[in-house]
Amino acid sequence: MSFFEIIDPAFGKFVLGNAPVKQIATGFDWVEGPVWFGDLNCLLFSDIPNNRIMRWIPGVGTSVFREPSNFSNGHTRDRQGRLVSCEHGGRRVTRTEFDGSITVIADSYEGKRLNSPNDVIVASDGAIWFTDPHYGIATDYEGHRSEQELHCNVYRVDPSGTMQAVLTDFNCPNGLAFSPDEKKLYVADTGRMHSGDPQHIRVFSVGENWRLSGGEVFHAISPGCADGMRLDTDGNLWSSAADGVHCIAPDGHVMGKILVPETVSNLCFGGRGKHRLFITATTSVYAISLNRSGTL
Ligand code: MG
Repeated sequence: MSFFEIIDPAFGKFVLGNAPVKQIATGFDWVEGPVWFGDLNCLLFSDIPNNRIMRWIPGVGTSVFREPSNFSNGHTRDRQGRLVSCEHGGRRVTRTEFDGSITVIADSYEGKRLNSPNDVIVASDGAIWFTDPHYGIATDYEGHRSEQELHCNVYRVDPSGTMQAVLTDFNCPNGLAFSPDEKKLYVADTGRMHSGDPQHIRVFSVGENWRLSGGEVFHAISPGCADGMRLDTDGNLWSSAADGVHCIAPDGHVMGKILVPETVSNLCFGGRGKHRLFITATTSVYAISLNRSGTL
């Protein structure tokens, strides 16, 4: 069987003919938020409905890292290497300090509670950017069903702790990622709860003082949607999709696909040289080695 589909011949150089899509962990209900710790040689990811963060160590296996996790979803690491997490249940973004204590980065805006932070990235200046759709408060499955107090926005928390809603015209902002030079910000809108709602990736230009402009549709993933995404060092965007991971060139065309047997939610680059793509997909985590290197 083939583990990938080459659409643009250039994608043929991104994949390795003898590298499999390997299931490295399974038995979960809905996994998201993979984050690689090269220093600890492990991958953390969220098993959201089971309210826990799992840890996978190559050659060792999978164990519980944190339970309960406040129904954590997306994770990343800040510039000091600390874990930064979105929590549906806590309706907040947190940082795990080196001593294990938890610091709240954001839990409200203008006096109203956040919805359910979904995905998070950290820019080179240390600012934390996150999306806040309502999925984690819509049902009791991935959080606690409760009232929505804020529109589903994208926020930036600058290094001084000042928080600002930087994108307010989304239906359900979800995955987000910077280009390697941080001149572009990609944000997925997965407002697909109702037919006709937007379901695409938008691209913004990042200007002086991180001011955003533009916001046109960059690409619409099909089949499925762009839940999580990451960029490689050449600026190609790797996005989740229903049939696997799609690699999209900076001009928006699909270069190729990594085919995964379950619906993909999120992905991250890790391993030595950030050449291994870790993919969370429904009940399992998959990994494939590529002839590519990823960014954060
Ligand atoms: Mg997401």
